[in-house]
Amino acid sequence: MPEKKPATRGEGARAKQQLKANLSSSGFHFTQQRAAVFDFLRNVDHHPTAEEVYLAVKNQLPKVSLATVYKNLEALIAAGVASKLNYGDGSARYDIRTDHHHHARCVECGRMWDIEPTEHSAGLRKIKPARGFTVTDYRLELLGRCRDCRQ
Ligand SMILES: [Zn+2]
Ligand SMILES: [Zn+2]
Repeated sequence: MPEKKPATRGEGARAKQQLKANLSSSGFHFTQQRAAVFDFLRNVDHHPTAEEVYLAVKNQLPKVSLATVYKNLEALIAAGVASKLNYGDGSARYDIRTDHHHHARCVECGRMWDIEPTEHSAGLRKIKPARGFTVTDYRLELLGRCRDCRQ
């Protein structure tokens, strides 16, 4: 573990520089709150809800409100450094990744994990759901129960 620390810190500094650059090129200021929201998204192992982000950031910055956390999340999305995953029931989860990838979702607790696109999933492009329909993209979501919920 001690060996890993300097690398993590260097990576953190680089990520912060990138965040600053992306925010300013999209017309947003770099703030301590935005950095805290970004750091939490970067380090959490699943894709949290706004409430989860709020509870984590509040530990560091007790004056933060849920409304400002929402605004900060929207700023990060507008700056292209995070993405929002929307569900039919109106819930949303936040993802630090903006590249093409897929998710596995626990139907009990709603937590989500990343799945890398594989050659196998690329075969979905060959499916013809209707005459003349060409698949140009796909979103794959695996549903199941996570280890915590299976216990
Ligand atoms: Zn679960
Ligand atoms: Zn993801």
